[in-house]
Amino acid sequence: MSDHNIQGQCLCGEVKFVTRDPHHIDACHCKMCQRWAGAVFIGADYRKSDDVKITDDTSLVWYASSDWAKRGFCRTCGSSLFYRLKDKDDFWAVCAGSLDLPDGLKLGQEIFIDEKPDLYDLAGDQPKLTGSEFLATLNLEVDS
Ligand SMILES: [Zn+2]
Ligand SMILES: [Zn+2]
Repeated sequence: MSDHNIQGQCLCGEVKFVTRDPHHIDACHCKMCQRWAGAVFIGADYRKSDDVKITDDTSLVWYASSDWAKRGFCRTCGSSLFYRLKDKDDFWAVCAGSLDLPDGLKLGQEIFIDEKPDLYDLAGDQPKLTGSEFLATLNLEVDS
């Protein structure tokens, strides 16, 4: 029996995937994510390459958004779906809104708080890291 019990899909349904309970959920306020996700990017993060299984990639397209990362989206409906690191196959950040996540989950952290527009604030007392603070923690994880 698979424990991939959380369903995900794009708006039109031409990209479908299954996953597990997320490792954690974070919100990225960086300007690139704002452009990509419409505003804040709330990502369900995973740490194993097989945590996310894409079951229908009919319309899945990858965009190389930087030298180190790529972003997956549906070419038919335009839904933003996946953020992945090019050299780290076990890292996934999946757009939370594409997943049928259970109720009761809370944000683990906010990142790139220094790029957040004044337009909104997220509720909760989760840690808020600047871009450089966040990148420092990522380097530690990559090295370990
Ligand atoms: Zn679609
Ligand atoms: Zn971002």
